[in-house]
This record gives sequence, structure tokens and C-alpha cells, in this order.
Amino acid sequence: MDCLFCKIIAGEIPSYKVYEDEFVYAFLDINPTSRGHTVVIPKIHIERFTEMAPEDVGRLFRSVSQVARGIEQILSIHGSNIGINNGEVAGQIVPHVHVHIIPRREDDNGGSMHSIVNMPGDTSDLEELADVIRGAF
Ligand code: 5GP
Ligand code: ZN
Repeated sequence: MDCLFCKIIAGEIPSYKVYEDEFVYAFLDINPTSRGHTVVIPKIHIERFTEMAPEDVGRLFRSVSQVARGIEQILSIHGSNIGINNGEVAGQIVPHVHVHIIPRREDDNGGSMHSIVNMPGDTSDLEELADVIRGAF
């Protein structure tokens, strides 16, 4: 499998591991946006978050929560951004699902989720839009 993150899990490419369990592997991002920036990946190869089976999502996020809590405690951090670049159009570069945990600090000049993109389109038809999206379920 020619996948960078699968190679990291297999130990073929070195990484700074911070946590591992049966289902996930977590390591420091090589190009961190803040100190302690960690990436949590499932050990199974799946490209996109929205392709994951629901039970695997549950296992992934249980571990993400544990890692984020551990980072908060040990680094005395009071918050973090936890997110997924889901698909190339959303900025995903490595095609193996990964959850970013980005520790945040006072005065770090960072933004919130609202700083990722700002092209909301028409907001006068939110009722209709919600109705359209509900059609998916
Ligand atoms: P993406 O943009 O795909 O959501 O994020 C991929 C992340 O993986 C980036 O933050 C990038 O810095 C990190 N990354 C890419 N290659 C390596 C690597 O070889 N080792 C580690 N530790 N992180 C990597
Ligand atoms: Zn992979």
C-alpha cells in the first residue's frame, strides 16, 4: 500500500508517536501549526472520513477525545481545534483519514472554524436548505 500514513503505522517511516491502541495511531504533525499539534489516524486505510463505517467513527473519536484530553492536561492547554480536512477540496493532502488536534493558547493569533472559508452564499432560504439536506436521511 503506497500510503504515507500506512507506512507510519507500519513503522516504515519514523514518527513521534504519542498514543496507540488497537484501532488508532497518534503522532506529532511534522509541520505543526501549534506546539503539540497531533494527528490521530485509524489503523485501517480509508481515504475519507465520510467513507468510514459508523462503528469505526465511534472508535476513532473515542480515542481522539482521549488524546485531546491527555494533551490538555499534560501541556496545560485550555482548548484546541479538533478537525478533519475531509477531501481534497477541503485541503486534505494525505488520502488516509486523520483528525488534527491543534492545541490553542491565549494570544496565538489563530482563528476559529469560521476562518477556514467565508463564502456562505444566500442565507435567506435556510428553511428550504435544511429541508433539502434532511432529504438525505
Ligand atoms: P492534511 O492537509 O492532509 O489534512 O494533513 C496532513 C498532515 O500530515 C499535515 O498537517 C502534514 O504536516 C502532516 N504530515 C505530512 N507528512 C508527514 C510525515 O511524514 N510525518 C508526520 N509526522 N506528519 C506528516
Ligand atoms: Zn493509508
